[in-house]
Amino acid sequence: MPLPEAFDYAEPDGMGLELGDQVAAPLGPRLLRGVVVGLREAAGGNRPLKPIEEILEEPRLPPGTVEFIQWAARYSVDWPGQPLAIALRGARAPKPKPTRVIELTGIAPARTTPARTKVLEAAAAGTLSPPDLARAAGVSSGVVKALIDEGVLAIRMVEAAAHFAQPDPHRAGSLLNPSQAAAADSVKAMLGQGGFHVALLDGVTGSGKTEVYLEAAAAVLAADPAAQVLILLPEIALTQAVIGRVAERFGAEPGEWHSDVAPPARRRVWEAVASGNCRIVVGARSALFLPFPHLKLIVVDEEHDASFKQEEGFIYHARDLAVARGKIEDAGVILASATPSLETLRNAEQGRYKWLRLSTRHGVAQMPDIELVDLRETPPDHGHWLSAPLIKAMGETFARGEQTLLFLNRRGYAPLVLCKACGERMTSPETDSWLVEHRYSGRLVCHLTGFSMPKPKACPHCGAHDSLVSIGPGVERVEEEAKSLFPQARVAVFSSDTAFDAREGRRLIEAMADGQIDILVATQAAAKGHNFPNLTLVGVVDADLGLRGGDLRAAERTYQLLAQATGRAGRKDRPGRAMLQTWAPEHAVMQALQAQDRDAFVAAEMAEREMAGLPPFGRLAAVVVSGTDAPVLESFMQAMAQAAPNTPGVAVYGPADAPLSLIRGRRRKRFLVRAERTVDLSAYMATWRARVKPPASVRVAIDIDPYSFL
Ligand code: ADP
Repeated sequence: MPLPEAFDYAEPDGMGLELGDQVAAPLGPRLLRGVVVGLREAAGGNRPLKPIEEILEEPRLPPGTVEFIQWAARYSVDWPGQPLAIALRGARAPKPKPTRVIELTGIAPARTTPARTKVLEAAAAGTLSPPDLARAAGVSSGVVKALIDEGVLAIRMVEAAAHFAQPDPHRAGSLLNPSQAAAADSVKAMLGQGGFHVALLDGVTGSGKTEVYLEAAAAVLAADPAAQVLILLPEIALTQAVIGRVAERFGAEPGEWHSDVAPPARRRVWEAVASGNCRIVVGARSALFLPFPHLKLIVVDEEHDASFKQEEGFIYHARDLAVARGKIEDAGVILASATPSLETLRNAEQGRYKWLRLSTRHGVAQMPDIELVDLRETPPDHGHWLSAPLIKAMGETFARGEQTLLFLNRRGYAPLVLCKACGERMTSPETDSWLVEHRYSGRLVCHLTGFSMPKPKACPHCGAHDSLVSIGPGVERVEEEAKSLFPQARVAVFSSDTAFDAREGRRLIEAMADGQIDILVATQAAAKGHNFPNLTLVGVVDADLGLRGGDLRAAERTYQLLAQATGRAGRKDRPGRAMLQTWAPEHAVMQALQAQDRDAFVAAEMAEREMAGLPPFGRLAAVVVSGTDAPVLESFMQAMAQAAPNTPGVAVYGPADAPLSLIRGRRRKRFLVRAERTVDLSAYMATWRARVKPPASVRVAIDIDPYSFL
């Protein structure tokens, strides 16, 4: 609940409460689930405390988890109930339903056939559900049913146990090449010392970072039979690939944790983590809040990825919190990336993180050749988005039976729809931002709030018929163009609209890896981390897109995204090629990409940030204040501006309209706070917030280290 701190309760005699216990506690007329976050002898205050009702029969949160939750709340300047709610998500999910399994009763069958014998053998070999038994025996379900009817087999209901097969850390992994082995030895030596350490595993795409951190995980699991390992990934689609590799490496499925995991399965993972039985978890950012009693290693793969930043509800950056949790748990942390964030690079440069570099791809795979296609010289035809040099390369690639990835970080068909009769733009009634046309669904969609409406036949403003035109490209439109250019090619789209759940995402990725797709048009969801052996051409449709955003990380993000996207090409033995369509080939980012000179890019960008006092050299926080009543909001903003603590090394800018000044009927204003690195920015923000009391219609959200400037 949104309470600023934990409440005090009395422990009834003999209850035996321990830190981390889940309890039922009275709050007003209700009994609520709570967690014991501290125990002390009361000095006998002047008002009697209400007693705890009972200890729930639920796993206890380990001390490190309790400490981490409190630390996270303080850091993010939020209520402790927020991270606690995330930590209890698995505990509150329904238990898995009991499942049906088949047992041999010992009664001999009246007659035997080859099919029946196979069923009996399979039933003797393992406890299976009826359909699994039929599958294992390779017979129809009728054979199993007949044996049940005869009393030879019986059905038993079993509670799905929160149990995971144990990983075997001694199974042989890949034979590491010399630079991988050197990196693995370094990490293992670091982890072998025990305690909190951070390593940056900085290796080009395809250099074998995953192999190296799996080797480190094996060492951790082997050294301590209770040790647990957490591997965090920025996207659900990426967790699938890593789960497969973990299962192969250790001979057992890891726990899987993200928003697409069904609640009963989540509960199973949560309980098995809490009991220590589940020793490897692969998950998205919220897996960081699982109740590990014995966490010894946290891997943050693709650590630079902005998806690690949670922007709504409890606002946090999973990479930063992973380092904090590592410190609290006395565990090792490995941050892996081909394009580390400037924050992490700075920590590595300063020696706070151990810096391990893998500078070549494994085996014969080469880095792709990168060409800049100057759109001023070879512009696409009107209403088209692919230039002649890119189309030519696609044709050659297709003729060789190889694959192309066209990358465009824009979902839908067209980012803007306007009326050619009156010039009116179709905008979202809630945010005033442009509505994006989606052809598959036939709707106009607001990407900020999810508002959508069918595409109207007539202009809602002037009433003209068939006057609405689509402006600019989204992935669906590029797919249409690719299909018309290469009618024989198999063309598919991958974006969060087409790959709307983990299974569909996996199916597309597998189809691509398996060579069933010739041209894949994709947003960033497919640009990261996957291995497509037959992919030899990456075309970046609009390389300038990210540079126009106007936030402090725009150049860094564009560089990372493009380096990842072009890194998809040529991962096996065939050389890859990447073509970037750009209107600004002379831009420093484009030049650094073409030269594949990351260090030059990083040095230039670091110098700019240092001059401006921006992260990683200074610290930032945003305060977004929203309200439904403009005058009330205005006067609160004035009060808030006056209440800002006057602290050396801190500058407060604003109030200004937030870049998205209207969302769902709420006006939004923003302060931006810049502080020197030595300032405890969380404490500053907490002091500030405590000085003001927002009226009921006003909401205050604090964002430490903001990523989104929208
Ligand atoms: P990264 O995580 O750096 O992108 P991966 O670990 O995914 O790199 O490795 C890229 C590809 O090369 C994968 O298919 C992986 O299985 C293979 N690979 C890397 N190192 C080895 C090795 N030592 N032996 C065999 N295959 C390897």
